Amino acid sequence: MRITVAGCALLALMLGSTSALAQNVKVTPLGTHAGELCDRDRATIFEDPTGVRILYDAGHSVMGGNDPRLGDIHAVLLSHAHGDHIGDRKMAAMGAGSCASPQTVDAGPNSTTAEIAGAKNAALVMVVDLSTFVAKKVEAVTGKPVGICSQAGGGTTVPVAAPCRSNIHLGGTHVMKAPGAVRGVEITMVFASHANSLPVSMLTNQDGKGLAADGLSVSPGPATGYVVRFTNGLVVYLSGDTGLHSEMKTIVHEYHKPNMAVMNLGPNAITAHSAAYAVNELVKPATVIVSHANEAATSGGKFVPKSRSEAFAALLKGRAVYPALSGVTMEFDGSAKCVAGCRS
Ligand SMILES: [Zn+2]
Ligand SMILES: [Zn+2]
Repeated sequence: MRITVAGCALLALMLGSTSALAQNVKVTPLGTHAGELCDRDRATIFEDPTGVRILYDAGHSVMGGNDPRLGDIHAVLLSHAHGDHIGDRKMAAMGAGSCASPQTVDAGPNSTTAEIAGAKNAALVMVVDLSTFVAKKVEAVTGKPVGICSQAGGGTTVPVAAPCRSNIHLGGTHVMKAPGAVRGVEITMVFASHANSLPVSMLTNQDGKGLAADGLSVSPGPATGYVVRFTNGLVVYLSGDTGLHSEMKTIVHEYHKPNMAVMNLGPNAITAHSAAYAVNELVKPATVIVSHANEAATSGGKFVPKSRSEAFAALLKGRAVYPALSGVTMEFDGSAKCVAGCRS
């Protein structure tokens, strides 16, 4: 059989060898120092092949709603209310301070999470108690009421006309869908073994201020992690801050079967050893992204020798592991194989 030039072009298209047909999820961490994984870094953007763009845990390593790195954001995820996640502080400027001790400033009364959701007309996808609280802050930013996101037609169609909030609890799934897409991105809230206390500075009523005198705060619902099922087959477990817990094996691994994990390494919740146990023995993903390091985890984009992050990476067995380097976009296919942008 003769194969024509046109036939070759068609074959190339069928094999997906052109970027136009790439069905990859793009993952872009936003940190304080370009090309590194630094102490305060939390924020991560995920872009589905259908165009749905999700921001996970805005935290301190963004410059608020007008951070030029953000682009379109359709959904804002928040694992829990701690200040380094909701964002009671924000970057003073790009690269300000050192990687080990970035310079941040007060983010004001509303949080980076609410500022971004207000500026981007995003859906708040987090447990009800927390989405209700953050919605009040978004209302303070925009001056308009925040309603519950419609799930008509099998998901919230993006972009939404105005910020809205999810109305789901632990275990529930919120779907974000691009116009005309056959499938949406499925975002499920899963258990995390952690606290969920708000920064007292974010409480506006006097009862809340009174709690502060006793060193107390309030907790808007449970802390969570997420499992996000993208349309190309990539399934990502976002651990949130958490200690080891048995649902990593049962609900996360056995039920959701993630092929990627973004693991938080904050040392007040998990050690390099216990986080490695979570990955190797419980969650068992093919690919791991190291985040929330609470240290200068990389230098020149490589794990710093003798860092906790390096120790964690060294303990992972037969898995691809990548640091969440600020501003570096990694692309993953449906089996969690990195096809562009990854540096290990
Ligand atoms: Zn926390
Ligand atoms: Zn944290």
